[in-house]
Amino acid sequence: MQTFTELNMPVRLLMGPGPSEIPPRVLRAMATPLVGHLDPEFLTLMDEIKSLLQSVFRTKNEMTLAISATGSAGMEACFVNLLEPGDEVLIGVNGVFGGRMVDVAQRAGAKVHRVDAPWGKIIEPSQIAEALKKCKPKVVAVVHAETSTGVRQPLEEIGKLSHDAGALFLVDAVTSLGGIDVRVDDWRIDAIYSGTQKCLSCPPGLSPVSFSPSALEVIKNRKTKCQSWYLDVSMLGTYWGTERVYHHTAPITMLYALRESLRLVVEEGMENRFARHQGNHELLREGLESLGCKFLVDPQYRLPELNTVFVPPGVDEAQVRKRLLDEYSIEIGGGLGDLKGKIWRIGLMGASSTPNHVNALLGALSAIL
Ligand SMILES: *Cc1c(COP(=O)(O)O)cnc(C)c1O
Repeated sequence: MQTFTELNMPVRLLMGPGPSEIPPRVLRAMATPLVGHLDPEFLTLMDEIKSLLQSVFRTKNEMTLAISATGSAGMEACFVNLLEPGDEVLIGVNGVFGGRMVDVAQRAGAKVHRVDAPWGKIIEPSQIAEALKKCKPKVVAVVHAETSTGVRQPLEEIGKLSHDAGALFLVDAVTSLGGIDVRVDDWRIDAIYSGTQKCLSCPPGLSPVSFSPSALEVIKNRKTKCQSWYLDVSMLGTYWGTERVYHHTAPITMLYALRESLRLVVEEGMENRFARHQGNHELLREGLESLGCKFLVDPQYRLPELNTVFVPPGVDEAQVRKRLLDEYSIEIGGGLGDLKGKIWRIGLMGASSTPNHVNALLGALSAIL
């Protein structure tokens, strides 16, 4: 019979597009013994998570909870709850995740209008304004932090245009939450989803979401049932709300982890956390530029947590990533789509955003190059 050794995974510096590293306090929380998912102590913990999520999302939205699956499930939850077959939706596409939104919305039976921008550029508000002259969508959706390109999408103006056109505003904040400012109420975002394994530094497996009162109104007035049973927010709301109706067995251990990772965010302070991400980005930028790497994105639209640089001419990018992993135990990401083979994607997310990470990578890269 085949024998299996004790689990022995390498210790990596996780500097790719996610997952990021997990602080020891989060790992310890995951070793906490289970209680039942309807245990009064667990229900208190769910209330605490909701309140921590409201702080981090900067919202008063009652419907703020964590979907029991990764960020893509949060995406799906937002689209399938708000859209019914035949509804129109306008989606900004300037990378992989805008493209994924289109796919999800089409599968939900929606009529999708898309506004495209080159990868590495933002969706210009004027493009959305132009598109809104030609269609009347129920929802306008964009990605705040496009992890495939490193672009930080300004949201306020597009939010205003969407509301002026009578549409709901839907935002992907998977890579932004906990790394750069996300203001759900101030920016009048109606539906938003995130993920745990990027700037929140918690393992993958949950997707924080939040829905505004206007979004809930739309959900309440649906003519058809939400196509997904598992992601139906009105049912999830009765488990996370005061009724506590069993829906599915919550992933208890993951929620322990999320509680601790959110506590770490609040303890550090949001402004301090954003400043830390920005400072380490600057440190990395200086080092990369002195190695001859040019950034893909214009300075004012760069994400501090996801740095995209062109591979210097004549360098085999996949070989460099392999050597970083094999010889230095450092993970960074390669390019996707048209950028495959052309760029590196270097994540400085959450617990992976430290001067030590930056210096370790720069040292290894300069030795290899
Ligand atoms: C990672 C990511 C997702 C998908 O999240 P998963 O946890 O991989 O399902 C969606 N949108 C963006 C912007 C992401 O970076």
